[in-house]
Amino acid sequence: MSKVLIIGAGGVGSVVAHKCALNSHVFTSIMLASRTKSKCDKIAGEIKEMHGVDIETAQVDADIVAETVMLIKRFQPKLLINVALPYQDLTIMEACLATGVHYLDTANYEPKDVAKFEYSWQWAYQQRFKEAGLMALLGCGFDPGVTQVFTSYANKHYFDEMHYLDIIDCNAGDHGKAFATNFNPEINIREITQPGRYWENGEWVEIEAMSIHKPIEYPGIGPKESYVLYHEELESLVKNFPTLKRARFWMTFGQAYITHLNVLENVGMTSIKPIKFNGVDIVPLEFLKAVLPAPDSLGENYSGQTSIGCQIKGTKDGEETTYYVWNNCDHAECYREVRAQAVSYTTGVPAMIGAMLMLTNDEWMKPGVWNCEELNPDPFMEHLNTQGLPWNERINIPLPHEYPA
Ligand code: NDP
Repeated sequence: MSKVLIIGAGGVGSVVAHKCALNSHVFTSIMLASRTKSKCDKIAGEIKEMHGVDIETAQVDADIVAETVMLIKRFQPKLLINVALPYQDLTIMEACLATGVHYLDTANYEPKDVAKFEYSWQWAYQQRFKEAGLMALLGCGFDPGVTQVFTSYANKHYFDEMHYLDIIDCNAGDHGKAFATNFNPEINIREITQPGRYWENGEWVEIEAMSIHKPIEYPGIGPKESYVLYHEELESLVKNFPTLKRARFWMTFGQAYITHLNVLENVGMTSIKPIKFNGVDIVPLEFLKAVLPAPDSLGENYSGQTSIGCQIKGTKDGEETTYYVWNNCDHAECYREVRAQAVSYTTGVPAMIGAMLMLTNDEWMKPGVWNCEELNPDPFMEHLNTQGLPWNERINIPLPHEYPA
């Protein structure tokens, strides 16, 4: 019997709300709140029609702590799932501390004026959450999120020491649009246009954005050009698994996507520095977001699959061991189930699973601020199989492609 408050009614928020409604034996009462209430009402209508479950909706500006506090006091949830934007992480954490509510999100805090991806701001809340007897689970989507659960599962069951980790993320889907991002365009473009970074021999190696790339073979999909990016889960993974000598994150991009992005960057449309336009300050990237398709509008005619996994090399009983664990997810199947595309689905389902475990499994309810690899991976892996994200694994079997060197 648990009340849950979901903040954010975009592509991911919609999936979280649908999946919580489909698990109403755990989430007995659900409220979806966001800046624009009409978006929450539209999702609530779909949920009623598709799954026969009633959910409440509300308007909230989560940048303002007092507004979120007021909403929490009115609804009295046990746990809050934050799937608004990374800018709201700290204000929502403050509101949770003020009202005694557990917290979960899917992306690390980012200040609006600098594209900086690190956990330092949120890790600084460790003591306050612990003392309040509250839990904050950070980055519980797919990547970050499941990629850390995969790594921790590998560490627990297959390795004495992990040495090399490559997280490989492919979207081989086609949404039929000339250019669109699969999650919030502003956050997505800030992430990709940053210099790349990976971990090697105890330090971060910085590279020019998109400068390291190669084709990687994805199961059921085939070879796709994949680029080394910095991704936030690398920070906590190298801290929690210090035997890692190298940790990298690869993501696929099609040539048309890169060409569009290059043009937009070259003409200044991806900048986050405000400019004056007709006497008004506007941020070019925010304006660009306003003209691009919304991630939650892409689902209807999306075809193809995503494939995200971890490839790990290390040792077990003195022998070299390789392990590959991955999930493939089909855009059209996600749309049939919850009216979403696979990128929103692969983020929203793990957020629901994390929340479900916090509410039902004592091992997953630990006061303090945690990343996903710090908790027992086994129940999470079981839920992935039953909640729509089944995974596959290969151990010491020649990989279907060359291990990324
Ligand atoms: P969308 O842009 O589709 O949705 C964001 C939602 O947050 C919108 O409903 C928006 O409202 C709402 N929102 C924004 N600001 C506020 C505010 N101040 N108060 C209340 N609500 C607000 O984004 P996505 O659904 O694609 O992404 C959601 C989150 O998931 C992001 O943080 C993203 O980084 C993360 N993510 C994580 C992934 C992972 O694997 N870990 C992968 C993909 C995404 P409005 O409509 O009014 O603008």
